[in-house]
Amino acid sequence: MNYTSLSKEELLKLREELNKEYSEAKAKGLNLDMSRGKPSATQLDVSLDILDAINSKSLLKSENGTDCRNYGVLDGIPEAKKLMADMIGTTPDHVIVYGNASLSIMYDQVSRAYTHGILGNTPWCKLDKIKFLCPAPGYDRHFAITERFGIEMITIPMTDKGPDMDLVEHYVNNDPTVKGIWCVPKYSNPQGYSYSDETVKRFANLKPAAPDFRIFWDNAYVIHHLYDDNQDEILEILSECEKAGNPDMVFEFASTSKVSFPGSGVAVFASSHANIEDVKKQLTIQTIGHDKLNQLRHVRYFKNLDGLKAHMRKHADMMRPKFEATLAVLEEELGDTGIGSWTKPHGGYFISFESLDGCAKDIVAKCKEAGVKLTNAGATFPYGSDPKDSNIRIAPSFPTPEEMSQAAKLFVLCVKLVSVEKLLENK
Ligand code: PMP
Repeated sequence: MNYTSLSKEELLKLREELNKEYSEAKAKGLNLDMSRGKPSATQLDVSLDILDAINSKSLLKSENGTDCRNYGVLDGIPEAKKLMADMIGTTPDHVIVYGNASLSIMYDQVSRAYTHGILGNTPWCKLDKIKFLCPAPGYDRHFAITERFGIEMITIPMTDKGPDMDLVEHYVNNDPTVKGIWCVPKYSNPQGYSYSDETVKRFANLKPAAPDFRIFWDNAYVIHHLYDDNQDEILEILSECEKAGNPDMVFEFASTSKVSFPGSGVAVFASSHANIEDVKKQLTIQTIGHDKLNQLRHVRYFKNLDGLKAHMRKHADMMRPKFEATLAVLEEELGDTGIGSWTKPHGGYFISFESLDGCAKDIVAKCKEAGVKLTNAGATFPYGSDPKDSNIRIAPSFPTPEEMSQAAKLFVLCVKLVSVEKLLENK
């Protein structure tokens, strides 16, 4: 039944039925959270042996003899550099292994550019205006960093092949105040889209008006596939930029947050040799070195890229039923209603939902009232403001598949209810 072609009388009748259903659903007293992309406890359970990968009896030296119990080693022990470089498809000479999370590296990269400048360029704080391009819907915490530094954010529409590259080229190649762009190139947050080869090549071939323009390439979901036989792969950005004569244009980030333990994983920064040296000059003042015992723990457990991939298959087996349960409810309940569309990702942590214009906030509020927590509507856009008020991020990872199915049923009910109200407004 397509809701958009219903008469006023039919909509009024439908509203009555939906309201009754909603009251019944509310009475169930649900308490479910599909707001943040957190691994479930069962996913974390499969990582528990990491904690036993080293103990007081282990050899706590790295492969080059460094005593991991002591100070030192700014850019990571060699075996951790190799593991993290392999994970993102580059070589150890291009990486710095950091601490427990990648978001703090992103913050540092913006902060350092702001206070001290990149590769000898004017610090951004000394310039009148700084702008970042923000493909949206996107990751709210990226936008929070740039907002914090007073950087003007320009929304770039996303497509299933990546950001609108005509617009990206237009801004980057002509406006010297555009200093960066936030990208989640693989299984994007929130759509689960992966950039096409053409998109990556167009990124690598940008001709920035600003010499210190950087692509902030957040490869957070690089090995987070949902299927064995249906995986997205993207071109490796550092080598593409090198080939295009733009070796310094990328700052890449990743971590094992959603591989091992969020908050206790290992994070990595990857870039050109020149950028790596530039970062190290500052990093050596910031720290004597990151947690090498955690690096060792991760390498001893995972061993190599195959070890990481095998581990991620276990995660996928747990995630897939939740995605499938959610997608099944969406399809069954909204498939032919014309009041919503959604993505069907092959990996990552999210499904992105598009409601009728002007409905997202009300849907999220209705869900909350009945005990299902969603990411705030608008969060996926710069300044927390979705101009069409239509995007909702669904995070299926944390609840069980049964809970997820329950939550999705309530969600579709709220979508129907709010859409009917909206359609009635226009009658
Ligand atoms: N980037 C993206 C796109 C994410 O979705 C997340 C986690 N939600 C992060 C970064 C955070 O990564 P970390 O734990 O390494 O800081």
